[in-house]
Amino acid sequence: MYLLRCRRMCRAGEFVCRKRYYPLSKKRIARAAQEGIVHIESELSFDVVVVGGGIAGCCAAIEAAHAGASVCLASASGVFSGSSFYPGTWGLGLIGPRDAADIDDMVETILHVGRGVADAALVDSFVRGIPEAIAALEAMGVSLKRPANPDEPQYIPCFDHSLRMWRGLERDSMKRGFEQALCEGGVVRFDGCELLDIAMDGGCTRGALLFDRSAKRFRAVSCGAIVLAGGGVAGLFKRSLSASGNSATVQAIAARCGARLVNLEFMQIMPGLVAPRRNIVFNEKAFRFARAWDASGEPIARDVLEARSEHGPFSCERAGAPLDFAMEACGDEGMEIACDVGDGSPEFVRTFSGWLERECSVSASAPARIAPYAHASNGGIAIDEHGSCGVPGLFAAGECTGGMHGADRTGGLASANALVFGRRAGVAAAKFARGFVGECAGGGANARSETPGFASVGTLASGCGLDVGSCRGSDAEGIATKSDSRNARCAGGSRFRSRCGSVSFEVEERAYPASGAALRELRETMSTHCMISRDADGLKAAANAISALQERVGEAAYAPVASFGSESEPASELMSASGLAPSSSPCSDAASIAATMRIRLQLETASATVAAMLARKESCGSHYRSDAVQ
Ligand SMILES: Cc1cc2nc3c(=O)[nH]c(=O)nc-3n(C[C@H](O)[C@H](O)[C@H](O)COP(=O)(O)OP(=O)(O)OC[C@H]3O[C@@H](n4cnc5c(N)ncnc54)[C@H](O)[C@@H]3O)c2cc1C
Repeated sequence: MYLLRCRRMCRAGEFVCRKRYYPLSKKRIARAAQEGIVHIESELSFDVVVVGGGIAGCCAAIEAAHAGASVCLASASGVFSGSSFYPGTWGLGLIGPRDAADIDDMVETILHVGRGVADAALVDSFVRGIPEAIAALEAMGVSLKRPANPDEPQYIPCFDHSLRMWRGLERDSMKRGFEQALCEGGVVRFDGCELLDIAMDGGCTRGALLFDRSAKRFRAVSCGAIVLAGGGVAGLFKRSLSASGNSATVQAIAARCGARLVNLEFMQIMPGLVAPRRNIVFNEKAFRFARAWDASGEPIARDVLEARSEHGPFSCERAGAPLDFAMEACGDEGMEIACDVGDGSPEFVRTFSGWLERECSVSASAPARIAPYAHASNGGIAIDEHGSCGVPGLFAAGECTGGMHGADRTGGLASANALVFGRRAGVAAAKFARGFVGECAGGGANARSETPGFASVGTLASGCGLDVGSCRGSDAEGIATKSDSRNARCAGGSRFRSRCGSVSFEVEERAYPASGAALRELRETMSTHCMISRDADGLKAAANAISALQERVGEAAYAPVASFGSESEPASELMSASGLAPSSSPCSDAASIAATMRIRLQLETASATVAAMLARKESCGSHYRSDAVQ
């Protein structure tokens, strides 16, 4: 039996990662098995680990690589996934200011639509960053859809009062552009690898614990900085218009590291089809051309349908809200609806109905049923304008973050958010990580991962100086080392600079045997009490149910037998493709342990979300309290 180790070696002044096999004594293996601990040593070291394969994660990885960092992009459901590449829609609308003169109005509108909940400085910086982010996207070769008639009022973004610059992001073009840029930047892709924990050293991120879903192994990587881009919390709900890999775990991971979660109560809920097919977005603009019936068979009033066609997600502030209440009252079966979409309908509606027929084999004019779906989060991990979470080495971007949106969000700004802050977080993370190079102090350090009630320990083989302020890099430093670093990766393929010490995790072999059932129960709870109509009793019931689940998941434990990798173990496709050796940490029931870690994180995010819903006692935008005192 052997344990694969990754060690830093100094050769001609250059740090190179080497992999070596050390025989493990039988005694050590037996002791580990007895202790019920899985040891996971870092295989690789990167400047930056980016978590999430949607727009935000791809942009962060591309920009971090351009800034000269060695980058690993880990994504639970593979790169080019998440809501950004959700197959149940034609693509994504993206808006920005029409010109410089439009910036102030756009900022004011976002703040107004956000009902004073958004962070004004962050919004200002966000809007100013959109044109540059769009230009960068086009420079990557991503072709953006432009409206045939940009002055058509249908292009006024939902909740907005004015036409903006509108662009359409289509999946295939985006994927091609990102793929090329990731490749050129030498970004190493860990497709199917899910972040489950972060190692902290003196309050600074130093490594990531990943679970490789296809190889069913844990993998550890050491790094100088981490960018979280794991998407929103809609996956906590039974009916969700978001991708299955969006497990809503990164919010809890960030909170465990000391980051703040903000505005979690504001989650967009929008209509989607439940028949003839499920999980397909219903374009609200089609309401104008529709007839619909409530649970008792009464037709929905024409003025309500007209009003509801003005915005996609539910907002309690709008005249169309009664339609959402009626839709929720129809339950899982959904509300009956019939649309009359013809050649005379606006371009937006024709695009939707054409896509529905072509891609989903559903006629927009055929009778259908719609129900409320959890859609996109307006809140999440608090970040500053550079994507920093306020925890040294921890950055976040995209839908898992909050502050740039408020109680309602203007349509087309979620994709813009992922683009703008994804890019910025990538640059800032690269600078932060590379800033360690000259400042690193040697010596060993041990750090317990800051995860209360959590069973993994991060151990650093050699630590960096803890004065994080002095570790930050400068622009000049980044540029000076950019070319040699990138050349090294391109030439070698399997050579990686190791700027920080290796990290090892120890994961307790404790698994809850019914994680899947616990997740179903959690989703049922969230869907019963936390969808459109919320009140204190329901939210307290949800909080209690989540606590009970947390206790159950935390208490139950069993100990599968540990085993360690041998030399003859076949390399996984991913590793052999990069010329790397396989992981050192297969465990007989790693999938169950990972599932337990995942459900614990999901319960923590859910608990924080319900707490935020309880704390906000007034109705506001996407958050409706039926028990609010008017
Ligand atoms: C149907 C639909 C239509 C939409 N339409 C619009 C629109 O028209 N305009 C607009 O602006 N916005 C729209 N949105 C919202 C927008 O798509 C998202 O907010 C945005 O794409 C989010 O990008 P992201 O990169 O932050 O997250 P995502 O694209 O959701 O990506 C998250 C990634 O993180 C990965 N991940 C999650 N957790 C982990 C973990 N622990 N470890 C590793 N990986 C993890 C996932 O696998 C995924 O790859 C829409 C969303 C949906 C679902």
